[in-house]
Amino acid sequence: MHQLTLAEIARGLADKKFSSEELTKVLLARIAQLDPQLNSFISLTEDLALQQAKAADARRANGESGALLGAPIAHKDLFCTQGIRTSCGSKMLDNFKAPYDATVVAKLAAAGAVTLGKTNMDEFAMGSANESSYYGAVKNPWNLEHVPGGSSGGSAAAVAARLLPAATGTDTGGSIRQPAALTNLTGLKPTYGRVSRWGMIAYASSLDQGGPLARTAEDCAILLQGMAGFDPQDSTSIDEPVPDYSAGLNGSLQGLRIGVPKEYFSAGLDPRIADLIMASVEELKKLGAVIKEISLPNMQHAIPAYYVIAPAEASSNLSRFDGVRFGYRCEDPKNLEDLYKRSRGEGFGPEVQRRIMVGAYALSAGYYDAYYLKAQKIRRLIKNDFMAAFNEVDIILGPTTPNPAWKLGAKNSDPVAAYLEDVYTITANLAGLPGLSMPAGFVDGLPVGVQLLAPYFQEGRLLNVAHQYQLNTDWHTRTPTGF
Ligand code: GLN
Repeated sequence: MHQLTLAEIARGLADKKFSSEELTKVLLARIAQLDPQLNSFISLTEDLALQQAKAADARRANGESGALLGAPIAHKDLFCTQGIRTSCGSKMLDNFKAPYDATVVAKLAAAGAVTLGKTNMDEFAMGSANESSYYGAVKNPWNLEHVPGGSSGGSAAAVAARLLPAATGTDTGGSIRQPAALTNLTGLKPTYGRVSRWGMIAYASSLDQGGPLARTAEDCAILLQGMAGFDPQDSTSIDEPVPDYSAGLNGSLQGLRIGVPKEYFSAGLDPRIADLIMASVEELKKLGAVIKEISLPNMQHAIPAYYVIAPAEASSNLSRFDGVRFGYRCEDPKNLEDLYKRSRGEGFGPEVQRRIMVGAYALSAGYYDAYYLKAQKIRRLIKNDFMAAFNEVDIILGPTTPNPAWKLGAKNSDPVAAYLEDVYTITANLAGLPGLSMPAGFVDGLPVGVQLLAPYFQEGRLLNVAHQYQLNTDWHTRTPTGF
């Protein structure tokens, strides 16, 4: 039963082959048995899950239907869940029970999804390896000595290990697409504003976006359908109608113009990944796509710009964690300043402290123009590059990451080495564009992802291309041994 996709679960529930309660019990038992190897969950919500499963079964018995009615999922632990610990992977919020549900959580619950738990993540979503979590590193089910990617690494490892069919993630610079690539999943970062950020603990507000992680594009369509839509509670949410993503999966790719940026194939890219990406291009050509070389000339400036903008926003967002109103408070503070300093010094881990310092520096008087403003100008140039490219092509294709999953600890002494892994993903966040990563093969037994980018609000196009590719390839069906 644990091998079933969301689409198969929906059919099984509709045909009364099993109940949501039965399925939920099977998956909870599987998590108890296998997750100690992976550490993909921070909290399990067994009682809530069984209660939601029974309620979903009752709704189905009353004639209701829906692709998510009774479907087991989990939430990255930065989506607020009422009355349940919402830690953001940090000691700072280890004792924090959210007083309300994030919009995404509430929408999925209303659609009948069953929450099995909250998944592990890099502290405050800062990272690409899931090693900065206060709750310990997550392991990659394809090789337990390797990282699963981050920051949504817990969601990715759990879904890849068949502990559950799908989970939510968030993507500020690649945190859905990169762990999807490194664990052989399909993951989608929607257009900025497509999915409400209300109740999502903020990292870098102008870049953060929630989205689905699943094994197939078909399942991403189902989960995104439940997440997307206008939310008056989020002032950056966009009031655009949400298309029927599942209905759009079967469009023909005949004549689809795919752009492959020449800058993507530079020295930093593992040549074995380059070969797999070109093989995926060949596959899409067979389905009728036309390939065109394009250029994104400002791509080289993306990492420096991102690593100014994201820390700048983080330093501002994280100032609310001061030991006063909620979260960690140091023992026995001597005075107010001591309370601030020690609560923050003891509550935040080293990567978070590094980002706060970089961000506060970049925003300080005298440096603001030189760093922050400059980075924002680069951001506009990157967006302009994409706009020009999308005048010529319908989709942009390339690698999701320059390397496969690295060994645990391998990049810990050099944060910049880890930042460089984001080179292909962060441009979509800087421009606000939707992006998807899907399985494209293996290097040394480790999964490789191909990334597709589309114009604003063309999530449906990404899902359509990925679904057609998955009907004709079987990379996404491969299962890690032992799971
Ligand atoms: N690796 C990037 C960072 O550390 C992106 C993380 C994310 O998307 N949340 O900022």
